Amino acid sequence: MNIVCCIKQVPDTAQVRIDPETNTLMRAGVESICNPYDLVAAECAVKIAHESKGRVTVITMGIPQAESALRECLALGADDAVLLSDRAFAGADTLATSAALSAAISRISESDPVSLVICGKQAVDGDTAQTGPGIASRLGYTLLTNVISIEKTDSSKNTMTVRRETGAGSEIIESKLPALITVELNCVEPHYPSLPELVASVRKEIPVWTAEMLNVAPGKIGLKGSPTSVKTIFAPPQRKGGPVFDCSESGAAESVRSLLKKLLKDEPGIVELAANGGKSNA
Ligand code: FAD
Repeated sequence: MNIVCCIKQVPDTAQVRIDPETNTLMRAGVESICNPYDLVAAECAVKIAHESKGRVTVITMGIPQAESALRECLALGADDAVLLSDRAFAGADTLATSAALSAAISRISESDPVSLVICGKQAVDGDTAQTGPGIASRLGYTLLTNVISIEKTDSSKNTMTVRRETGAGSEIIESKLPALITVELNCVEPHYPSLPELVASVRKEIPVWTAEMLNVAPGKIGLKGSPTSVKTIFAPPQRKGGPVFDCSESGAAESVRSLLKKLLKDEPGIVELAANGGKSNA
């Protein structure tokens, strides 16, 4: 089975802050990492390829430094990597990003048809979860989102069976291939690469594909192909801490008294609510 895994390099969001004056991301000195969902996607892809005697190609669209995220996935066992990097891709929104990525997948399909594309559910910086569905719709692949486990792949029947998370629980779906799945963080746990895996990943050559190498109209990619724009970005206002009540043995009685006083003052309907077992009459 020929598998493509789409990965994105993102700033380590645990370190990113928003400048309160300008409402822009303060990226200086912030480490770049492979999107955590995409490490899960790569591990999944490698497992499926191992079972189906297939191949995994990891691809990313990004700046030259995004190569390091590709190497992380090569260390997890991916066979090949491709970096899409060109000024023509810059300023892409999710529509233009998925146009470039699906054109790259079509190019990979020319030598051996791609049966499965695996994406993370979302990128931890952009967070839209639109790129995977955008690629699936362009390629005409079946889309299975929020996958929490791969139950089975059957090359002879050309199907795969996955468990998806739904709002109310989970469901198991069998789908015809080709398909695109987006994976949740708990789908598999990426392993720690061994030393030989790390060495092999560093030695691997990673080709860089430019926009001209893809069969995609210039107006569909980058800023030109992006109908949306980010107007502003801001952190939610910080909440003030609530009152703190001393629950030690000596202070407990006084704390309960002050808590009740506060509740009766701030929430006048609370006695009636408690008397009704938490059910409101309104
Ligand atoms: P999601 O849709 O949440 O990602 C889901 C999954 O899709 C990921 O887990 C991964 O598997 C895959 N995926 C997402 N992005 C990529 C990728 N690049 N390569 C491979 N796989 C991927 N961002 C910039 O870095 N530079 C810019 O100049 C820039 N300009 C922008 C301009 C506009 C007008 C807008 C609206 C956005 C811009 N962005 C830019 C953000 C960029 O559009 C998004 O980061 C990108 O489209 C992916 O969306 P997302 O981050 O929400 O990913």
